[in-house]
Amino acid sequence: MYLRQNTVPVKVGDLTIGGNNEVIIQSMCTTKTADVEATVNEILRLEEAGCQVVRVTVNNKEAAAAIKEIKKRIHIPLVADIHFDYRLALAAIENGIDKVRINPGNIGRRDKIEQVVQACKEKNIPIRIGVNAGSLENHLLEKYGYPTADAMVESALFHIGILEELDFHNIIVSLKASDVPMAIEAYTKAAQQIKYPLHLGITESGTLHAGTIKSSAGIGALLALGIGSTLRISLSADPVEEIKVARELLKTFGLISNAATLVSCPTCGRLDIDLFAIANEVEEYISKIKVPIKVSVLGCAVNGPGEAREADIGIAGARGEGLLFRYGEMIRKVPELELVNELKKEIDEIVRVFEAT
Ligand code: SF4
Repeated sequence: MYLRQNTVPVKVGDLTIGGNNEVIIQSMCTTKTADVEATVNEILRLEEAGCQVVRVTVNNKEAAAAIKEIKKRIHIPLVADIHFDYRLALAAIENGIDKVRINPGNIGRRDKIEQVVQACKEKNIPIRIGVNAGSLENHLLEKYGYPTADAMVESALFHIGILEELDFHNIIVSLKASDVPMAIEAYTKAAQQIKYPLHLGITESGTLHAGTIKSSAGIGALLALGIGSTLRISLSADPVEEIKVARELLKTFGLISNAATLVSCPTCGRLDIDLFAIANEVEEYISKIKVPIKVSVLGCAVNGPGEAREADIGIAGARGEGLLFRYGEMIRKVPELELVNELKKEIDEIVRVFEAT
């Protein structure tokens, strides 16, 4: 595990973000929030994929009203994304929201900010301050000339200051930019000055392929520094893909305890089995497993057995067949056509034993 930067722990529903807790995976619904049926269905799909906190836009009264019904039918904390309108924040809080994403400096008059803060205090709900390089305050753009990492950190400190002045400390902060080096710099500087948990994200990172690479480069650099208590991968794709990428990224750093990992080789001229098809099928199969097992799928018996032995369960291809390994021991040879099914049975057995102990 990479050492996490210690932050103040913040409760969101029944989860704790920050402190020494695992990095929490978030996503955001693409549905109209007022469409309860569609929103709940999307959230349930996200839950199944491993999403731990989900955000919905609350951009009108109907969306705020829908929170109550959505909350009854989902199992993970729900966050309201609000811009400017304090009445929508109050309505979302009243209807049972678990966290509000709003920038206090954008709410307007002091009494409006106080009402939102007071409502959050009464329900013990945190506020996420979401700094975005694309929407920095005018006074910062005048000071810095254009968006910079320092301007982003100053913006975060500005909003934090407003909340702290009202004796509110239940805070999470994000500093998102689509420019990866700027985001890394902003988060790195913020981690040195801000004691609250940081929510990581590279905003508007793009499509599934490009956005995965961009987000992984930026968020991965921060995770390697021990920065970040929660994250969202933002993709122009089905949000379930965001969860898959987030889980894979956290696995890379040993920061997730409820995910199975697949090791598979790139193949070469020594390949003796249809490895791409097998690897994809096994990857899909283990994607919903919530225990930390390691599965290897390797193409040949030259390097394969050595690698397969490192995994809990693995196969190495041979001509028309495969060698099945469990905890470092070769347990049997299996004809190629039965290989995937036999591997799945062994995976199920390992998961069953893991869950029973
Ligand atoms: Fe090639 Fe075998 Fe290595 Fe796969 S495991 S890359 S097939 S040598």
